[in-house]
Amino acid sequence: MILKEIDEIKKIRKSAQLVSKTLGIMAKEIKPGITSLYLDKIAEEFILDNNAIPGFKGYNNFPNTLCISVNNQVVHGIPCDKPLNEGDIISIDCGVINDGYFGDHAYTFKVGEVTKEINKLLDVTKNSLYEGIDAMIENNRIGDIGSAIQRYINLHGYGIVKELVGHGLGENLHEEPEVPNYGRKGTGKIIKNGLVLAIEPMINLGTEKISLDDDEWTIVTLDGLYSAHFEHNIALINGKPEILSTFDFIYDALGIKSDEEKRFKNFFD
Ligand code: MG
Ligand code: MG
Repeated sequence: MILKEIDEIKKIRKSAQLVSKTLGIMAKEIKPGITSLYLDKIAEEFILDNNAIPGFKGYNNFPNTLCISVNNQVVHGIPCDKPLNEGDIISIDCGVINDGYFGDHAYTFKVGEVTKEINKLLDVTKNSLYEGIDAMIENNRIGDIGSAIQRYINLHGYGIVKELVGHGLGENLHEEPEVPNYGRKGTGKIIKNGLVLAIEPMINLGTEKISLDDDEWTIVTLDGLYSAHFEHNIALINGKPEILSTFDFIYDALGIKSDEEKRFKNFFD
C-alpha cells in the first residue's frame, strides 16, 4: 500500500472537497419529478467549471459523471431520464481528479419523505461508516475497520454487501488495500500514517445478496429491497483518522445541524 506525504494528502483533500461541494449542490436539486440525468449534467458542469475532471466518466468505460443508484440499486447505477418519486432514496457517488489526485465519496439522499424503516436504514448505514472510521487508527489493522462496521450492522440485522469494498485512494481511484465492510479484528494490513482510504459501507435492508443488472453496470439487491451507501475519504495523520471529505455542504443545503465529523477534524480544520 502507498503511504502519502502531507502535500499529496492536501491534493486528495482538495478533490474530495470538490466532490463534497458537488454533493451539496445535489442536495438542493433533489426532489420528486427531476431525473438522475439532470443531476449528472449539473454535477459535470460544476466539476468542469472548477477546472477538475470527472473521475468516473470513462473509467472502465463508465458513461457518466455520477453513479446514481435508486432504491433497490446498490451502486454503479447509470443516470437516466426516469423521474424520481416521493419516497425514493438516491445514492450519489461522485469522483473527481484535481492536480492528478482522486476524490471519491457518496451519500444516500431522500426524495421528499421516506418511511420510518428507510430512515433507519440510512441512519444506521451512515453511523456504520463512522464506526469504521473510528477503527482507522495507527497500528490497527484493515480487518478492524470491517469488523467495526459489521458488528454495528449486525445489531440491526441488515445485509452487508460483501462483493464490493472500500479501497486506498490517491493518484489512482482504486489502490491497495481493499477495505471490506466485514472482517475479523486483528487481521489484514497494519494501518500507518499517510494511508488514505475510501471507506464505503453498502448496506441492504434485506438480503446481502446482489446481482448485476442487464446494463452490466448497475448492482441491484436480489430481493428488490432498498440499499444505502455512504462513503468518506480519510487519511491517517499523527496516528488519527482525518476526514478529507465532508457532508457539511449537504447539511447546509438541507438545514441539518450535525457535529458527526467533528472528532475526525484535527489537522486541517
Ligand atoms: Mg465512490
Ligand atoms: Mg470508492
